[in-house]
Amino acid sequence: MAYLFETEEHAAVRQIVKRFAATHVAPRGAEWEENEEFPIELYRQAGAAGVTGIGYPEAVGGAGGDLGHVLVASEEMILVGRSVGTTVGLGSHGIALPPIVRFGTPEQHARFVAPALRGDKIAALAVTEPGGGSDVANLATRAVRDGDDYVVTGAKTFITSGCRADLVTCAVRTGGPGHGGISLLVIERGTPGFEVSKKLRKTGWWASDTAELTFTDCRVPVANRIGPEHGAFAMIMMNFAGERLMLAGQCVAIAELAYREAVAYAQQRTAFGKTLTGFQVTRHKLAEMATRIAAARALVGECTTRVLRGEQAAGLAAMAKNTATDMCSFVVDHAVQIHGGYGYMREVLVERLYRDARLYPIGGGTREIMNEIVAKAEGY
Ligand SMILES: Cc1cc2nc3c(=O)[nH]c(=O)nc-3n(C[C@H](O)[C@H](O)[C@H](O)COP(=O)(O)OP(=O)(O)OC[C@H]3O[C@@H](n4cnc5c(N)ncnc54)[C@H](O)[C@@H]3O)c2cc1C
Repeated sequence: MAYLFETEEHAAVRQIVKRFAATHVAPRGAEWEENEEFPIELYRQAGAAGVTGIGYPEAVGGAGGDLGHVLVASEEMILVGRSVGTTVGLGSHGIALPPIVRFGTPEQHARFVAPALRGDKIAALAVTEPGGGSDVANLATRAVRDGDDYVVTGAKTFITSGCRADLVTCAVRTGGPGHGGISLLVIERGTPGFEVSKKLRKTGWWASDTAELTFTDCRVPVANRIGPEHGAFAMIMMNFAGERLMLAGQCVAIAELAYREAVAYAQQRTAFGKTLTGFQVTRHKLAEMATRIAAARALVGECTTRVLRGEQAAGLAAMAKNTATDMCSFVVDHAVQIHGGYGYMREVLVERLYRDARLYPIGGGTREIMNEIVAKAEGY
């Protein structure tokens, strides 16, 4: 089932990504998940195939389109490529670049955005710190102005693509305490004092790298600041709203894939002389999975449409993320159950999807923080 907002343009995007994922990802995605890394050439291949630029204005080197095109592109990557880790690693520019596109100068577009959309540079976003991720207003990484540079000291953690990133859109404290003292700096790989201190091992998303980064007296040119000094909190929150819909869309795609796997398995596996779909309890389980996927897709689609119309939809986006993550947790769990013992085996796709799905109520703002946003939007 497609999103209700989809047009012929979205169908064309689906075709482009389907072709790319079938050729470049599906044949080796499972191996990359086991190896906890996909080849770095994939960035360039995705750039050349026009996949990385989907959703970005042509003026900054993109292929055109909007958040709706991003959603359908990542759905095809997951459905056809069958490697969530590769999808999110390859897509880390999707959270790193939007603030630069929106608030950066033409020079910053040329230096940072265009090379990342060509697949020549890897981009990551670094907001979360070892001391806390939810409480963004209290982040501690310090950037002190010294002439034409900022001197940055601090650490970031859980950074997707951080191990291989050429540029990191990094939230730092340039001013006083609270949300009014935060700026965004693009910190480039090779800057003295910028170090990947650890590659982190995790429950799922294995093919994507996740890093802890440290900055020790790291001199970053003022020319790398995105937007006004101390003015980044609103940019970060705006970026989160888009990220939440992208994550919700990934949940819809993961659940759809797990559901298809469960249906195929239930149609051929026999027990007590009939296929699993011969049992009403299995049919109802599958029906419940399909229903929840359809409901989450409808809400994610509606919220995306409202965002694209320019409506304030922070509360609805938070609702969509929680609805989609809950749905996905439910669907992958049932998909494993329908597979019986095979569902617990490493070589079976739903086992991996079950682990991948656990990230979504945490990343990009936790389930609890989403409810805080909903409560605020509802006015209590
Ligand atoms: C695989 C992975 C990839 C990630 N990628 C990135 C990335 O690329 N860039 C990046 O910047 N970050 C990234 N993150 C970080 C992610 O966004 C944070 O983990 C998340 O925002 C939560 O922050 P935290 O882990 O510090 O948890 P904490 O903020 O310490 O929260 C711990 C618990 O307390 C709860 N809690 C906190 N405050 C409240 C409150 N006010 N009310 C109720 N409950 C509360 C939380 O909901 C949570 O359950 C990634 C994380 C993971 C696991």
